[in-house]
Amino acid sequence: MAGGSRDRSLREELTCAICCELFSEPVMLDCMHHFCKGCILAYWDSCARVPSCPQCRRTFPSRAFRTHYLLSGLVEKVRRCGSEEHQQKMQKRLEDALQARQKEMENLLQRKRVVQEDICSLTKVAGELNFKIRAEFARLHQILEEEERSVLAELGQKEEQSLAQLHRHVGQLEEGMAVLQRDIEHVKQTLSKMEDVSLLEVESLDIRPSVHVETQPALDLQHYRDSHSGPLQYIFWRHMLRSICPAPAPLTFDPESAHPNLFFSRDLTAVTERNRAQPVPISPRRFRQCVNVLGSQAFDSGRHYWEVWVGSKTKWDLGVAADTVDRAAKVKLCPENGYWTLRLRNRTEYWATATPWVRLTPRQPPRKVGVFLDCQEGTVSFFDAGDMSHLFTFHQVSAKRYCPFFSTCFSDGRDNVEPMRLCHLAL
Ligand SMILES: [Zn+2]
Ligand SMILES: [Zn+2]
Repeated sequence: MAGGSRDRSLREELTCAICCELFSEPVMLDCMHHFCKGCILAYWDSCARVPSCPQCRRTFPSRAFRTHYLLSGLVEKVRRCGSEEHQQKMQKRLEDALQARQKEMENLLQRKRVVQEDICSLTKVAGELNFKIRAEFARLHQILEEEERSVLAELGQKEEQSLAQLHRHVGQLEEGMAVLQRDIEHVKQTLSKMEDVSLLEVESLDIRPSVHVETQPALDLQHYRDSHSGPLQYIFWRHMLRSICPAPAPLTFDPESAHPNLFFSRDLTAVTERNRAQPVPISPRRFRQCVNVLGSQAFDSGRHYWEVWVGSKTKWDLGVAADTVDRAAKVKLCPENGYWTLRLRNRTEYWATATPWVRLTPRQPPRKVGVFLDCQEGTVSFFDAGDMSHLFTFHQVSAKRYCPFFSTCFSDGRDNVEPMRLCHLAL
């Protein structure tokens, strides 16, 4: 052990050559040799001759030496380190240091385990998403290919029909020509044998041709071409939209569930709060405390998507509610009470009303919000329907039946009077 031998040699350096102990009050002679003050004085007292250095024999008649304070301190330190108490203290310190390092090692190991689990989970989830996205694209490709096949089949069918008609026409014309040809031969023969034929026979010959081929309507090639031209990609895309699942649902509001302050457009796609109640029939489905309303359609299975125009309203709530929610009481909108909603407050503060609330920071204020309900997965997701950027997703959503949920919030004079609208995608 290098440390131990270094300690030992240091100890030897600090040992008095007279008493063979660590220096006590070390002093230095001019010959640079050190001794305990007591030892050198006693040695000189015992010297019969001129006082000298016991090591190099140089004489010091004046008995001069210098006290060595630095060495004194060093000796004190070495003496202290050698004590049992100090040893124990050092051992304790080392043991503590070891323990602290082992604990830190365990901590790092645990953290590494967590990160490695994250790596596995990320890979797994990325794989699942990859599979899901491929499946959705495969479905889109399939829809598009089916559309292509069907459009080309229709084109081919029309071509075939027209061709058959034209060929039939050619046949009729050829038949007519054959009859005429026979006639022509007959007339020619009669003409050549004018002398031999009786005049009666010539008279009975009709001057008009014996056949008549019906005129067919001309082929309208322009119409054929036009009816398969135009903004083809848009036309096919609109056809394709009919097969997309889920396509945006054309919802309407359910006025029977609405707070009496809420007024609706005739087609039940726009709602606004008017700061006064109107007389409405009493219904257990009606919200009586908050200016809320549900969609007229409820869902208990499948995947559904709808879009809500919020424009530049200054506050609103929207999302999904369990159809069992308490409509008579003033209830906090949270998953525990059967609400999975997004809300705007104070013009710019977007929140997901999870427990606790989650503050959202959309890239730009969404003017149209998309709500996606997946009954099987138990999720409700929100999107900025402008660019379909994801805003928030609730998980572990659970209810027997789900209703689209809306709250215009109070109009506050004219501040928040803009109607909330259900968007219908024209197909
Ligand atoms: Zn000594
Ligand atoms: Zn000496």
